[in-house]
Amino acid sequence: MSSDNYSLSGQTLIVVGGAGYIGSHVCKMIAKHGGTPVTFDNFSAGHEHAVKWGPYETVDLRDREAVIVACEKHKTARAVIHLASSIEVGIGEKQPAEFYDNNVLGALNLLHGMRAAGLDELIFSSTCATYGETQNMPLVETEVQNPFSVYGKTKLAIEHMIQSFHKAYALKYITLRYFNASGADEDGDIGEEHDPETHLIPNALKAAAGLGGRMKLFGTDYNTPDGTCIRDYIHVNDIAAAHIDCLRAFDNGRAGTEVNIGTGQGVTNLEILNLIEKVTGNPVPYDAAPRREGDLTRLYADASYASEILGFEPKHSDPEHIIATAWNFHRKKWGV
Ligand code: UDP
Repeated sequence: MSSDNYSLSGQTLIVVGGAGYIGSHVCKMIAKHGGTPVTFDNFSAGHEHAVKWGPYETVDLRDREAVIVACEKHKTARAVIHLASSIEVGIGEKQPAEFYDNNVLGALNLLHGMRAAGLDELIFSSTCATYGETQNMPLVETEVQNPFSVYGKTKLAIEHMIQSFHKAYALKYITLRYFNASGADEDGDIGEEHDPETHLIPNALKAAAGLGGRMKLFGTDYNTPDGTCIRDYIHVNDIAAAHIDCLRAFDNGRAGTEVNIGTGQGVTNLEILNLIEKVTGNPVPYDAAPRREGDLTRLYADASYASEILGFEPKHSDPEHIIATAWNFHRKKWGV
């Protein structure tokens, strides 16, 4: 069953990281369903201009007292959606101290804040990077989790903390293991705006737009059909909709589980570049570069559990549509 008509009327939801890329799309989706998102963000990576659908609190998750105060202030919220984290795989390898502080300590502080305020529903954004290198594709949720990157390790540590709070304190949670979040809202008002931008699609669009010079294609010697990595691209609005599915699942007594959010479709980096040439009508100037530290060869989801437990079905995730919506957003932003 789809959550298209699920009403959040009269409900407030705390969206931690609501000023970020996925967070802003989640906030817009909550508002579409009649609810009010309250963003918690330290604006280190998020943008004030992306907070359009409700109020915000400037709060840094590393500051436990501040998190407790903010949770107390919004303790009538129905649920907490936690999306704030350091995400750049390559940077995590060089700065693990910051990644563990921001991600693991930050999530622990949030769990303390929720517990003190009696907030007992949590949707947590985890990642396919918690699985690690394996030939077992598509990835099922029961696959061994042996993360390769610091980023993946921090997310797995948080998954474990949440499981412990569930067991000991009856926290209701659903952890979503996103595959590659991509695309932009069809209205073109919000999209991916990282600084520095490390992701394939926005970097390739920039190169196709003639901005920022030639892009680097990291690793052309992988054991894949064209030598480049394989990823599963899921449209950010499909991810946002998965959060509404989770809220409905809580109503139906479902909680305490981890769910892949992907399409099940693997696409190579070169295939993405070809689609970008098709959508933009421009060549993507690139140079083959060495492998990027922390990258896995292939990652794509078995999406059947999400369908079974959440009724989740991707509707916006055809790769060409993903790229077209991202291009629509970036063209406006770059004025090209
Ligand atoms: N990638 C690349 N050039 C870039 C950015 C990314 O070749 O400028 C590659 C990256 O090495 C990986 C794939 O694109 O193989 C997807 O990377 P991204 O950072 O978009 O997402 P991730 O899978 O790391 O979350």
